[in-house]
Amino acid sequence: MVSNVEIICVGNELLIGKTLNTNAHWLAKKVTTLGLAVKRITVVGDDVEEIAQAVREAIQRKPAFIITTGGLGPTFDDKTLEGVAEALGRRLERNEEALKMVEEKYKQYAAEGRIDRFEMTPHRVKMATLPEGSRPLRNPVGTAPGVITECEGVVLVMLPGVPQEMMAIFEESVEPLLRKAAGNLTFYEASVEVWGIPESTLAPLIDKAMRDNPYVYIKSHPKAAEGTPHIELHISTTSEKPGDARRRISKAVMQMSEMIQREGGRIRPRRV
Ligand code: AMP
Ligand code: MG
Repeated sequence: MVSNVEIICVGNELLIGKTLNTNAHWLAKKVTTLGLAVKRITVVGDDVEEIAQAVREAIQRKPAFIITTGGLGPTFDDKTLEGVAEALGRRLERNEEALKMVEEKYKQYAAEGRIDRFEMTPHRVKMATLPEGSRPLRNPVGTAPGVITECEGVVLVMLPGVPQEMMAIFEESVEPLLRKAAGNLTFYEASVEVWGIPESTLAPLIDKAMRDNPYVYIKSHPKAAEGTPHIELHISTTSEKPGDARRRISKAVMQMSEMIQREGGRIRPRRV
């Protein structure tokens, strides 16, 4: 069975269109490629209640993992851990392991002359103040540690908003957990480009190929019209056996190609 994942991105900058949500895009691709299924991506602002509500709702759907990004920093608007604590009905407490991690960073910054002197200010301690029963995740490229905890069988992972930090913590500490949950399941995909027939002519061909190939998912992606219809056809499957997956994909691609050519369309494989 495929394990489900939900992604919650926190930040007013995402809601006002200042920042493109590249974290969600990157995580969705990673999680899917690892053989798990992203079921929902939610964006909320820097508001404790909004964060708590999104987390509560996600827990009720019982995914294997909830991954949040953003809101772990030292400033007043970094409220993710407060929101998660509220959702889980837990207190925020200073975490000694996290405190050591944050202290190490500021000692290093002081030694490098990036800050005047080493000092643990309340805003710095804030980054080591976690919901009870959480564990910090080492941040190899920044200051605020990631955070992991569990509630009702759901693993919650909180990552920073800065993309480089989010990616580094994910790859070091989260990816191994997802890989384990995925078991031998892997995602396989192929794309072909189609010219010369409109999507409405392609639609019944997709219906037929999906019926004949129950394990593959076929999705058409129409491109900008340039006089002649141009569509990307994306074919994917999740399987424990690479041989089976490749056979399923190539069977569906062959069938689609034959049907498209019979309708007068042209096709070309596309790199994915
Ligand atoms: P934060 O950790 O919430 O303080 O976010 C720090 C910075 O990371 C923000 O100011 C944005 O520039 C960037 N950022 C936050 N969330 C995202 C996201 N979902 N996608 C891309 N960049 C983001
Ligand atoms: Mg923020």
